[in-house]
Parts: sequence; C-alpha cells; structure tokens
Amino acid sequence: MTSEERLQDVLARIGDAERRAKRQPQSVTLVAVSKTFDADTIRPVIAAGQRVFGENRVQESQGKWPALKEEFADLELRLIGPLQSNKAADAVALFDVIETVDREKIARALADEMQTQGRQPRLYVQVNTGLEPQKAGIAPRETAAFVEFCRDKLGLSIEGLMCIPPADENPGPHFALLATLAEQCGLQKLSMGMSGDFETAIEFGATSVRVGSAIFGNR
Ligand SMILES: *Cc1c(COP(=O)(O)O)cnc(C)c1O
Repeated sequence: MTSEERLQDVLARIGDAERRAKRQPQSVTLVAVSKTFDADTIRPVIAAGQRVFGENRVQESQGKWPALKEEFADLELRLIGPLQSNKAADAVALFDVIETVDREKIARALADEMQTQGRQPRLYVQVNTGLEPQKAGIAPRETAAFVEFCRDKLGLSIEGLMCIPPADENPGPHFALLATLAEQCGLQKLSMGMSGDFETAIEFGATSVRVGSAIFGNR
C-alpha cells in the first residue's frame, strides 16, 4: 500500500470508530505523525488532503516544515515531543499547536515567547498518566493545579490534555483518566491514541489521534 492508501484506510477506521462511539462524523482530528520522514515522503500525504501533522523534534521540523508551509498555506503543525525551554522561541515560531506543556518552566518560557513574537500557538498539557519516570508529562493529581497556574498566573489559554499511555499496558484506563482530568479542568479537547490504539482512544472521547506508522510505515 502507498501512504495515500494507508491514509484513506486510517480515515475510514476513524469514521467507523466515531460511528461505534456515537460521536459526530469528523469530530476526531487526525494528526499524521511524520517524524523521521522527509518532505518528499510527506508531500503525497498532503496532496491526498491531509492537513494536520505532528512532529516530536523542533530541530528536525525546522529542516522540512518551513518550505512545506510555504507550498501549502493551510497546514497545521503540532509539536508532540518534549520541549526544552531553550527551544521555546523556535517552537512558538514554527508550530500551530504545542501539545507537550508539562512544567512551570516551559509554560513561562512559552508565555514569554508568545508575548515577544505576538504568535499564539494553541496549547495542550501533557499528562504522565502512567507515572513513568522516563516519560514527560505532569502527574495526574497535579494536573488541575497546573492548568489553573497556566491560565491564571501566565494568562495562557489551554485547549486540552494529551497523554501517551505506557507501551505495555491496556490503554483504556489511561484514556479514561485523561478524560476525567479534562472534565475536572473544564477542557474539551483530548489528544490521545496512536497507530495501535486510536480506535480505543476514540471510544474514550479522543478529539484528536496521533497516527504515524499506520500512515507512513515503520520508522
Ligand atoms: C511517534 C508518536 C506517535 C505516533 O506513533 P505511531 O505508533 O507511529 O502511530 C504518537 N504520539 C507521539 C507523542 C509520538 O511521539
């Protein structure tokens, strides 16, 4: 299968999952995760109609997306990987959505850069639902206070929550936890689900799914 065919297949599976979950058609946004793939591999997927893409590294993204954004005016680029504060300026300049806000230092750096650049990427707070020491994200029980800090102390508007469940666990309880936390915070958007579990995530209320290998092939 070509990447265009795999894209259509993923979109059809998202549609089926929306129906099964009694969700509105096209209420789930597909974020095509293009990390490690070059512009020539990404272009046919854009040509097939896909407009929202996710990358996990700022520097890698700077190498391919500015030119693609010039070619296609209506792309939306999302940062889904860990962000260091020394990259906050670059991230604010390039990304339309930053999904990995997870600590005060990075929230402050983003707030400062947004002020300086006059650019307001939409923001998600990443939650470490499995409390994995090697994984980024704020602890579940600190999430509500952190979202409040971002809003009230920094004036940041937080759009939703994002999580990456532990690779070796049933993801359902993690998706359910993220949905509960979002409700407690009054947030509508949930970024959860990857190639292996996006249909489950939709069942639990995902509003966007981040799908890489099911579209682009193995990395
Ligand atoms: C790579 C990545 C994905 C996509 O993973 P696949 O299993 O290839 O679909 C989703 N979310 C994040 C945060 C990633 O880094």
